[in-house]
Amino acid sequence: MDSSKTFRYSQQREKILEFVKNTSIHPTADMVYEKLKREIPSISLGTVYRNLHMLAEQGLINKLSTGSGADRFDGDTGGHTHFKCDNCGKIFDIDDNDKTDYPLTEHHITGKYVTYSGMCIDCLENN
Ligand SMILES: [Zn+2]
Ligand SMILES: [Zn+2]
Repeated sequence: MDSSKTFRYSQQREKILEFVKNTSIHPTADMVYEKLKREIPSISLGTVYRNLHMLAEQGLINKLSTGSGADRFDGDTGGHTHFKCDNCGKIFDIDDNDKTDYPLTEHHITGKYVTYSGMCIDCLENN
């Protein structure tokens, strides 16, 4: 076996992190797996899944709660707002000018993660 094709576990995690950081599609574990298995044939979906959750726990990526469907992951860990299309399932980053309307609470808020839902422009145009 060609040793250059053998990826160690830590290298697999690096690749997973790199992919999520460099894409704006907010991928699921399945999407990351489909993409990376071409480059790393030995990688398994379980490995991708575990690493995504580990990276999210470490704060290197964000795990998105989108209400339904598989967990999505975001390489942009700054607080920002999402729009999820109910038709095609794509997730977009959207500008939210209204960043200061934090609710009154005794807790210390440092960010806001909101997901709007509806129909994306691509789906609207294809209808
Ligand atoms: Zn759509
Ligand atoms: Zn995002």
